[in-house]
Amino acid sequence: MLPVYQLVIPTPYPVGPVNAYLIKNDPVTIIDPGPDTPQAGKFLREMLASLDCRIEDIKRIVITHAHPDHCGLMAQIAGAADADVLIHHLEEDKLILKPDYYKEWLPFVVETGVPADVLREVEDIKDKLPHPSVRGLRTRQMSGGESITFDRGELKIMHFPGHSPGHLCLYDPDQKFFFSGDFLLPHITPNPLMEPDREKPGRRLPSLRQYLSGLDELEKLNVTMVFPGHGGTFNDYNSVINVGRRHHQSQFTRIKDKLQAGELNAFQISRAMYPDLKGWDIFLGLSEVVAHLDLLVEKGQINCSPKQGVNYYSNV
Ligand SMILES: [Zn+2]
Ligand SMILES: [Zn+2]
Repeated sequence: MLPVYQLVIPTPYPVGPVNAYLIKNDPVTIIDPGPDTPQAGKFLREMLASLDCRIEDIKRIVITHAHPDHCGLMAQIAGAADADVLIHHLEEDKLILKPDYYKEWLPFVVETGVPADVLREVEDIKDKLPHPSVRGLRTRQMSGGESITFDRGELKIMHFPGHSPGHLCLYDPDQKFFFSGDFLLPHITPNPLMEPDREKPGRRLPSLRQYLSGLDELEKLNVTMVFPGHGGTFNDYNSVINVGRRHHQSQFTRIKDKLQAGELNAFQISRAMYPDLKGWDIFLGLSEVVAHLDLLVEKGQINCSPKQGVNYYSNV
């Protein structure tokens, strides 16, 4: 039986603290160590000390996805402990290719029809956390399907994209614990972020389709407790899955209602649904709308016609 400890680490993001999980068994492993801030580093050291463990004891760091609130501290820990970093290659790419990443993402925002002044507001966003880097770290690429073994058990690595393309979850087949990262959260539905498709240059990933089929897959798994990336642990994962499905269903309906008035672009729809968004939240609002539009187009429920570089949508 694997001993699991939840460590609640502060972040400067509106989502609040992030959960790191310590598997205190040989080799000592941490899932998502938290953000690279002095406060988070201090919290982590203190919490480990209270569990009679030191950073130097950690031999494996598993990263669910490359968002800085989850993975920022990996470099410090890997350096101090000579630990391996286990990460999906699509997430590792983001931590290597940062300068090009922004250029890939910009055309997707432009084709939503965002006006120049709002685009500047999105471009000016400064992250509250430094961009994490895997340079110089010993990474082991995971793609899902692998098992990592411990003295007293194992964890299966599972690929659940949608919130992020290389998002990994972990499953303990003995205790039927599921470490969900940001894929399944008790209090919020994760944003299906706009992401470039590395295999089809210039195209977006079908993030919401990936996410919804992941929910179907997760439903088939026998889980006794979910250990999420934010918020408390929970066991009624089927009802959390259904809340997620209902959220997306009502978003489809809201968008089709907005299109009753006539043809609109994604920016106009997002302004109608979320009039007060500022800065980074504008990008999140656009991602939410675009993900639903993509799927409605795919299902043949709405039409998409590009005009001068902007996509316009209308009901069928
Ligand atoms: Zn995330
Ligand atoms: Zn998160």
